[in-house]
Amino acid sequence: MEQTFEPVIGLEIHLQLNTASKMFCSCKNAAGSTPNTNICPLCTGQLGVLPTLNKEAVKLGIKAGLALKANINEISVFARKNYFYPDLPKGYQISQDLHPIISHGYIEVEDKAGNTKKIGITRAHLEEDAGKSMHGGDCSLIDFNRSGVPLLEIVSEPDMRSPQEAYNYLTNLKKMMAWLDISNCDMEKGELRVDVNLSLRPVGTEKFGTRIEIKNLNSFKAVKDALTYEIERQTKLLNEGGKVLQQTMLWDDAKGQTLVMRSKETAQEYRYFPEPDLPPLQVTQAEIEEVKNAMPLLPNEQKKVYMDTLGLNAYDAGLVTQERAIKDYFETVLKEGVQAKAAVNWIFSDLAGKLKAANLEILQSPVSAKDLAFLIKQIEGGKISSKIAKEVFAKAFDTKESIKKLLESSGASQVNDEAQLEVWAKAAIAANPKAASEVKAGNAKAIGALVGPVMKVSKGKANPALLNKILNRLIKG
Ligand code: ADP
Ligand code: MG
Ligand code: ZN
Repeated sequence: MEQTFEPVIGLEIHLQLNTASKMFCSCKNAAGSTPNTNICPLCTGQLGVLPTLNKEAVKLGIKAGLALKANINEISVFARKNYFYPDLPKGYQISQDLHPIISHGYIEVEDKAGNTKKIGITRAHLEEDAGKSMHGGDCSLIDFNRSGVPLLEIVSEPDMRSPQEAYNYLTNLKKMMAWLDISNCDMEKGELRVDVNLSLRPVGTEKFGTRIEIKNLNSFKAVKDALTYEIERQTKLLNEGGKVLQQTMLWDDAKGQTLVMRSKETAQEYRYFPEPDLPPLQVTQAEIEEVKNAMPLLPNEQKKVYMDTLGLNAYDAGLVTQERAIKDYFETVLKEGVQAKAAVNWIFSDLAGKLKAANLEILQSPVSAKDLAFLIKQIEGGKISSKIAKEVFAKAFDTKESIKKLLESSGASQVNDEAQLEVWAKAAIAANPKAASEVKAGNAKAIGALVGPVMKVSKGKANPALLNKILNRLIKG
């Protein structure tokens, strides 16, 4: 009989920290610049230079620790991780081994059953990035811009039980880290990198099986696909009486399969030892407090506040707390005195649609939050219909013109002139006396047949509320 296995998953994540300069020198933290323009004797590994720790990187580490509900360790120790690679000019990477700055935290994710589950964070430590080798033609080139860029490595407990849970963990982590400006988390730029650890065990048993590690994953979807592939492969292997070997693998996204990179027998021994050129890192309670006080609410906390104070439902509150930039845009619209629900509707229908079609982020929106607020207020004040507002919005987005200017020049405002509305209403009643008598008999819905023609003749500009009132007065006397 086929046995069923339960996947056990743990993730290691590297985040490039959003600092101005590198981890141990004053070079610009800009890995994507023209190759080898942000380098100095220190980050190219020359002799006789000493590292100086970047305070900002430490603050971002503390912030991450607070977001992960973890211990921020008052003393942590930098250590040398020794290995040879052409893009690592010192022959070692400065990292933290036995004493990381962060330990014992968690992230909440949704599990299969839709319940909230805590995924443990074992540790998070500060380290420096290596340079970048580029191979092409008959030579290899090295760019040291990335050498010494500050990283935070976040290691989870083996607490995830499905590819979807791993996906949810990554999504939540990224959302939080980007929200707090700890990292830009752009996977395409290598600002967020994921290594996956997986083992299987028979359902109902405790003991972990043999673990494999998958590297080179370039999207969260790739993580999910690679895990799904490996779970299937290992299940089949185990059911055929085979054994899983402890291996490091690569994911080939194009082929949709894993490849063996190396087996554990040839795994590296890093010969860690404390970095003699840096004293132990000391973090005081006052420093932790300072970071804490400057921290905004986390996405989940902000979501709850919006539900409680603005009366938004969970779905809408979730929408506006997806990203920091969306939240900022939303709050600017609110500040202008617009109803929360109307703001959400506009941001996630018209604005989101236009942004998506133009492949833009909300930060690049041609219509500013203030302009959108002005437009919504015109509708709320009964000055224009929502149909016209949508047209004006689209035009403002496409032409980058201000909403105010477009409204003025198009004469788009609503017809509130009662005399004019009455002329149109009388004509509509005369053309459709049947609808009028139905309204009179109490069928309120029948009024639609009279509103329609007036809207048509007024090109959508008749003030709907006023028109309704006038029609009712004319019919019911
Ligand atoms: P290494 O330094 O060799 O990568 P670690 O002990 O630091 O090893 O573990 C790295 C990751 O592997 C962690 O995220 C951990 O949760 C995960 N892990 C450890 N054991 C297992 C296992 N049996 N199955 C799945 N994941 C595991
Ligand atoms: Mg590992
Ligand atoms: Zn430098």
